[in-house]
Amino acid sequence: MSSAFAVEITGVDKVFNAGRADAVTALTGVELTIGRGEFVSLIGPSGCGKSTLLRLIADLITPTAGTVTVNGKAARQARLDQEYGIAFQQAGLFDWRTMRRNVELPLELRGVRRAQRRTRVDEMLALVGLADFAGHYPAQLSGGMQQRVAIARALAVHPPLLLMDEPFGALDEMTRERLQDELLGICARTATSTVFVTHSISEAVYLSDRVVVMSARPGRITAIVDVDLGARTEQTRQSAEFFAAVTEVRRALRGSGAAATEPAAT
Ligand code: ADP
Ligand code: MG
Repeated sequence: MSSAFAVEITGVDKVFNAGRADAVTALTGVELTIGRGEFVSLIGPSGCGKSTLLRLIADLITPTAGTVTVNGKAARQARLDQEYGIAFQQAGLFDWRTMRRNVELPLELRGVRRAQRRTRVDEMLALVGLADFAGHYPAQLSGGMQQRVAIARALAVHPPLLLMDEPFGALDEMTRERLQDELLGICARTATSTVFVTHSISEAVYLSDRVVVMSARPGRITAIVDVDLGARTEQTRQSAEFFAAVTEVRRALRGSGAAATEPAAT
């Protein structure tokens, strides 16, 4: 059965090392619904549980309490059905595989036939503007190009949902802004829903339909800021509306006690 929602998180708690002296309550009482095609960012200080929440959606870990549903399926089933693609801060490409063979990997794992794999990889590399680099190895490309290949790989199976954990965190500011625009274009063209973890306020605001503000100890959602900037253009980053949204998110972070512990947020 298909659901109107890309992600539904209900009453989720996550305790690591439960029952031990070193138990950590990473998340408590998380309620979050993400619509189809929506772009949502998770922002908050280090250790507030952003990565934990993303890993719960991806079924890389399981909740201590509550439920996680992806496209109307239990998270585990959604993982088995490859309902999502995932990209991390490190591109995580295999050095000995060409760009083509890196992007091809999830298709191989899924048993897609060779001719179809070829077509799909060409399509994906074109999507991220790297059609001419299919035969290159990771070491031959810049960090930004490697990250684009990682995004192409995450999207290769045409997942309805894209999960990203600080994917641009290691890139310089100009590369980062260019990739933000590319990502928005890709998500719009492919109608992909996205959950994006960042600790940059401006990045969260620029990319998102909604910014989910979290606080640490114990990790929880303290505010959700709606961002209504319309289509992003070159003017967006200079607009009064953009600064107003940045201020709103910054205030929400302060209100959650996050500002003091997150000097890196920009
Ligand atoms: P963020 O991504 O927001 O920086 P994380 O989700 O990585 O935060 O971590 C949230 C909290 O859970 C932190 O206190 C962290 O130390 C703890 N944590 C994360 N993963 C584990 C784990 N596998 N075992 C024990 N504690 C963990
Ligand atoms: Mg993290």
